[in-house]
Amino acid sequence: MRCEICQAKEATVHLTHRFPPIEGLNVPATEWKDHLCGECAIAYEHESDRFLHQQLSPWREGMSKEEQELALQALQGAQWQHMTEWKRKRSSQ
Ligand SMILES: [Zn+2]
Repeated sequence: MRCEICQAKEATVHLTHRFPPIEGLNVPATEWKDHLCGECAIAYEHESDRFLHQQLSPWREGMSKEEQELALQALQGAQWQHMTEWKRKRSSQ
């Protein structure tokens, strides 16, 4: 399998991102995978960390458990979207 990003090297890093289901909100468990070469995997991790550090903490005082789960889900969704877009841009360079 080739690296998803550079399409040039063999994908040797297989990342699996798993999110648990959210009980009571009918949100199923989700999972996505990335297949990257070593070099692209490092860039990917940097970008993913950078993105998360940029985000405001989703937690606010007094949130209910349900609100916390929704906030976490929104953050994960935003991260997924960001990384998907980042991969697309990077692979078309
Ligand atoms: Zn690559």
